[in-house]
Amino acid sequence: MDTTIILRARSCIGERTPMLSDCGALCGAACCQPDEDGQGGVYLFPGEEALFAEADWMRIQPAEFAPMLVCDGRCDRERRPLGCRIFPLTPVRGEKGWTVRMDARARAMCPLARSGRRGLDPEFVRAVRRAVRIIAEDPEGEAFLKRWMELEAQYRFEL
Ligand code: SF4
Ligand code: SF4
Repeated sequence: MDTTIILRARSCIGERTPMLSDCGALCGAACCQPDEDGQGGVYLFPGEEALFAEADWMRIQPAEFAPMLVCDGRCDRERRPLGCRIFPLTPVRGEKGWTVRMDARARAMCPLARSGRRGLDPEFVRAVRRAVRIIAEDPEGEAFLKRWMELEAQYRFEL
């Protein structure tokens, strides 16, 4: 997928975050905390890998689902991946097209998960929905969104 689509989706979200205040202060930025092995990862969208060629705060490792960006809990915020920007929301295709819902994977660590979408800044929710729809305009992007949705659904049923 053309990186300009990723950049459009990123800029659509802009500086918006799940809450108007820094939600990371609630939880010690739990979603950025490394695993026991000192690393954390987020899957990259198609074409997104090319945007990280010169970054020194991360590395990209192959994974079955998609290339995964691995960091140690710190990053150049301006360049963080789209997957980090949309969390704790996740894309879902409903009857009226692509929208977003709370990511089942957030339940394990995000204090915002319990209150659902209504607990988030509505501007953030709208911006992430728009970003998802930008990705969905591209056939490769939409195929990836469908796989992302299926992956997330596995966690939904496991919990
Ligand atoms: S875990 Fe949730 S509340 Fe904490 S920084 Fe991430 S999105 Fe914000
Ligand atoms: S890339 Fe940045 S926002 Fe994403 S998990 Fe790492 S530290 Fe957090």
